[in-house]
Amino acid sequence: MIKPLATAPTRPGLMGLDDALLQLRLHALPLVGVDTVPTFEADGRVLAQDVVSALQVPPQDNSSMDGYAVRCADVRQAGVALRVTQRIPAGQQGAALKPGEAARIFTGASIPPGADAVVMQEDTQAVSEDDAQGIPQVLVQLVPLPGQWIRRSGEDVRRGDIVLSRGERLQPTSLGLAASIGLSQLQVSRKPRVALFSTGDELVMPGDVAPEDMKPGAIYNSNRFFLRALLLRLGCEVSDMGIVPDRRDLTVAALKRAADNHDLILTSGGVSVGEEDHVKPAVQSLGQLELWQIGMKPGKPFAYGQVHREGQMGKAHFMGLPGNPVSSLVTFLLLVRPFILQIQGAFATSPVRVMLPAHFDVPKADRRREFLRVRRNAQGGLDLFPNQSSGVLTSAVWGDGLIDNPAGATIQNGDWVTYISFADLLL
Ligand code: AMP
Ligand code: MG
Repeated sequence: MIKPLATAPTRPGLMGLDDALLQLRLHALPLVGVDTVPTFEADGRVLAQDVVSALQVPPQDNSSMDGYAVRCADVRQAGVALRVTQRIPAGQQGAALKPGEAARIFTGASIPPGADAVVMQEDTQAVSEDDAQGIPQVLVQLVPLPGQWIRRSGEDVRRGDIVLSRGERLQPTSLGLAASIGLSQLQVSRKPRVALFSTGDELVMPGDVAPEDMKPGAIYNSNRFFLRALLLRLGCEVSDMGIVPDRRDLTVAALKRAADNHDLILTSGGVSVGEEDHVKPAVQSLGQLELWQIGMKPGKPFAYGQVHREGQMGKAHFMGLPGNPVSSLVTFLLLVRPFILQIQGAFATSPVRVMLPAHFDVPKADRRREFLRVRRNAQGGLDLFPNQSSGVLTSAVWGDGLIDNPAGATIQNGDWVTYISFADLLL
């Protein structure tokens, strides 16, 4: 059975994930500013303008084999001997081929005028004696087809082609393509400046306190590590502001500092509705904040708002993630990641979804749209991590992706489900 994509949550009072994405998109105005960066440094950046080729790639017709450039008219049957009058290595231009002549040619070398095919050297045999003029000869042992083993000028890129488009996120291969048309620099959107902090009096930094000295109730701050790494992968400049205690005044002070000089303030923890959750009133006192209860699991509480810059123009975006590590991770991947790409002007911001068969059962439906940590198996199906608790970060390390399971849907072994790979989300 094929599961439909979720649209709205079944539980009233919850906001649908798609609605939340739409709201965020309305706020995701592109950053002003373009950086000119060396092509070498442009991996992961978002192109700020179309890249148009000023030349053909390859620039000339060239050989795709080591062998002999020939004229098909000379080789009407197998076993014809041709005089080898020139040798053309890659990077050199040969002379015109006359009737009865062949050119020794190597992969990547330009096809000489007059030649219309290449015979690979495996289909030839050297003739032991030179001809009457002392010119070496080669026996062509098959009848070549016109154009064979020739790579045509412009078959990769033609002059005037848009080879990379504005809004495209550059990958290693894009850098190669830009280089192939001679570009040593690219115009990209500037990096988003993100201030990151974690809230929670229970949090301790690894390295500050040894495991054996941890006080009861203390936990290590894990969110800070993956959130920082994810932001860096998305091309952000990150100011890591560390841990902010659960106090209103300190949270306000941290937000004020963060609003300065940053496009986005990202926090984890403190956005639930308990009295130790100070993020909401603190943001509200400096700007505006909406606290959403999103119909997704993990990751129900999520906050979006803006913090005004003191004595300056403008404001910083604010996003508050839930504190549970897997909730933090999933809301980052599904809500923050597209936003960060959108403000960089990227056009493709939602991950690819594919259908794969579940090799497990989920007998109990959840009222929220659920993102289950799963892993592809060798049989082409998906296995489920046994503990799907939002505190179990192991599930996300064991898993290689998420199932997007609609609210209210159970899963039976063999059902086709919607899978999103972490490889796509972590890119
Ligand atoms: P909160 O959203 O602040 O209510 O936190 C929810 C749960 O997530 C609590 O069990 C916290 O201890 C835990 N938590 C919050 N922040 C972090 C963090 N940075 N690293 C690991 N766990 C956290
Ligand atoms: Mg907390």
